[in-house]
Amino acid sequence: MIKVPLLDLKAQFAQIRAEVMPAIDQVCSSQHFILGANVTALEQELAQYCASPAAIGVSSGTDALLLALMALDIGAGDEVITSPFTFFATAGTIARTGARAVFCDIDPVTFNLSPGAVQAFIDDRCAVQGGRLINRATGGRIKALMPVHLYGQCADMDPLMKIARHHDLKVIEDAAQAIGAEYRGGGRAGTFGDVGCFSFFPSKNLGAFGDAGLCTTNHAELAESMRVLRVHGGKPKYFHAVIGGNFRIDELQAAVLRVKLKYLDGWTEGRQRNASFYDAAFAQANLGAKLTTPQVLPGYRHIFNQYVVRVQKRDALRVRLAERGIGTEIYYPMPLHLQTCFAYLGHQAGDFPQSERAAAETLALPIYPELDEEQLAHVVASVAEFYA
Ligand SMILES: *Cc1c(COP(=O)(O)O)cnc(C)c1O
Repeated sequence: MIKVPLLDLKAQFAQIRAEVMPAIDQVCSSQHFILGANVTALEQELAQYCASPAAIGVSSGTDALLLALMALDIGAGDEVITSPFTFFATAGTIARTGARAVFCDIDPVTFNLSPGAVQAFIDDRCAVQGGRLINRATGGRIKALMPVHLYGQCADMDPLMKIARHHDLKVIEDAAQAIGAEYRGGGRAGTFGDVGCFSFFPSKNLGAFGDAGLCTTNHAELAESMRVLRVHGGKPKYFHAVIGGNFRIDELQAAVLRVKLKYLDGWTEGRQRNASFYDAAFAQANLGAKLTTPQVLPGYRHIFNQYVVRVQKRDALRVRLAERGIGTEIYYPMPLHLQTCFAYLGHQAGDFPQSERAAAETLALPIYPELDEEQLAHVVASVAEFYA
């Protein structure tokens, strides 16, 4: 039987092995593992790739978010508006600073934070006091927006930035899944707000051989502040005006990522090609409302970190596909407002219906670039067979 794993990184490694192993060897020979030449070069190369003036390599996507929040001085008494339909780290990092995560529902087509929902929350539930936006229920100050560019397509940044500017909110983009994604008009993920946060977790489009991440920013002072916070806030070394953490990316990961970056656009085109294949084949299969393919909005560059369909009988379909040798995943089965650890926020089922529906109805299909047409066709045929 044809096997179609959700992701096969071995195929990618085979492609770059001859180039990446000497790069690793070179770091080992130098025995320079922390903040060396590879990190400096990678930061320059990624700043250019992301079309951002500054890029700071960090230890993970999660730490990128945490570092951005710390650099923007977000903490106890502050609140950050974000999506409840995202990976845990988005809200987890907000809570870890002592701030409160404020959820607003998503757009049902893109699964991204809905600007309309954010505006409604501000209009209905907030008040302006002394020039500050205050959550009337908690008394906390709404200090930032954290949109997520979910699955590799940008959130609707124009209206979100307009809201942010109007209320003097900072904007941290969770671009963990969206390196190289473009908004209509062409701006790249991570360059719209104050800080863009990226992940190089192995399953992302640009994946390290372990954990790594990146912050981008247009502000020179923020870049400097993040560089200092990345090394425990020491400036000069061993003298601390602020408390940071160990948020460093290491040389081995930087060396690997520099090799992989050269292939990124080719790999992303492979993902887009596979997405087009699925789009056409699912359309031909005539599944009607049983399966809805992801929508790429006009003028956007979707990088397809995930290809996520909305389907009927999702869990039964997933079992059937597993029986046919097809790997799938649910991103994400429980929206964050219903997680046990966020019970203190006081939410209940029904609070964010679009997020809850998405959690119950979506399924990620294999989309990695090395898939061949036989594998893609097997996925589509197996789905069609399930519904027939
Ligand atoms: C992967 C991911 C993160 C966290 O990145 P790590 O590198 O795994 O820490 C944060 N947010 C989103 C949306 C992600 O997909």
